Amino acid sequence: MQDLLDRLVADARVFAAKGSVAAYIPALAKIDPRLVGLALADRDGRVVESGATRIPFSIQSVSKVLSLSLVLESRGEEAVFSRVGRESTGDPFNSIIRLETSHLGKPYNPLINAGAIVVSSLLPGRTAVERLASLLDFVRSAIAASEDGRSAAVMVDEEVAASESATGFRNRSIGWFLKELGLVEGDVDEALATYFSQCAIRLDAASLARLGAVFAFDGVLPGGKRLLSTRTARIVKSLMMTCGLYDGSGDFGVEAGLPAKSGVGGGILAAAKGRFGLASFGPALDGRGNSVAGVAMLTALSRELDLFEL
Ligand code: GLU
Repeated sequence: MQDLLDRLVADARVFAAKGSVAAYIPALAKIDPRLVGLALADRDGRVVESGATRIPFSIQSVSKVLSLSLVLESRGEEAVFSRVGRESTGDPFNSIIRLETSHLGKPYNPLINAGAIVVSSLLPGRTAVERLASLLDFVRSAIAASEDGRSAAVMVDEEVAASESATGFRNRSIGWFLKELGLVEGDVDEALATYFSQCAIRLDAASLARLGAVFAFDGVLPGGKRLLSTRTARIVKSLMMTCGLYDGSGDFGVEAGLPAKSGVGGGILAAAKGRFGLASFGPALDGRGNSVAGVAMLTALSRELDLFEL
C-alpha cells in the first residue's frame, strides 16, 4: 500500500503545474502550489500516507460535510431539509442565481455555499463563537479516536477567516438573500461569521483521512464508538456523491465512483465504504475549484484498489 501511495503522489506532482491556487481569498494565495499528499485511514484508525500529509491547510468547503453531519445529528433532517434541498445544481459553488429563479425557494443542496450558510446558522449555539466551538468539538472527537499523537491540532486559521470575511461579498449577498427568504436562523452576520470561520479550520491530510473514515464506516469510530447515526452518514455520503465536487461532481463520480468533498484550500475528503477514509491535498485547482492532483490521485487510487461504490 505504501508503494502505491508513493507512486500516485509522484505521478501527481506534474498536475501542480496544471492548476492555480485559490486567490479570491487573499490569504489562501500564499500556499505552495507544488505540495501534494495522499492519506488513507483504515477501520482501526491506522493511517498510510505519502507526501505532504502533515502540513495543515485550510479545509474550506470540506467543512460543509462536517457541519451538515453535526446539524443532522443535533437538529434532525426536517430542520435541514425544510430549508435546503438535496439536488445537484451543475452550477459553480458560489452561484447565487437559482436562489431567485428556482421553484424550490431554497438552496439546492447543503454543499454549495448557499446551503452551507443555512446549515451554519443551525449549528448548536447562539453566537458564531459558540457554533464554531460546537463544530470544533465535534471534529476533535471524530479525529481523537484514532489519534496517533503526531497529527496537527484542530484549529482555525484566523488570518484566512479574516481574509474571507473582508472579501466575501458574494457570500454576504447570498446570506442576506437567504435571510430574506426566511431560511437563515438568527442573525445573518453571525451565520456568515460561523461559515467563514468553519471554512478556515486547518487540518492536515492525515487527519482528514480519519474524518473520511467516519463516513466510510457509517458513523462508527475506531474502537467501536458511534459518532453519527448510519442514516446521517448515508445522507452526507449521498450528497457528497452527487454534489461534493460542485459542477465537477458528475465527472468525478463517473471516473472515481467515490463520495467526496473538495475545498478550495486544495483538500479532498473521500470515503470508500467499509474500507478506507481517504484524503488528498494539492492546492493547485482546476477551473471548478477542485484540486487537480487530488482528483487525479483519488481516481487512480479508486481504480487500483477497486473502490467504486456503484
Ligand atoms: N470559503 C469558500 C467560499 O465560500 C469555500 C469554497 C470552497 O472551498 O469551495 O468561497
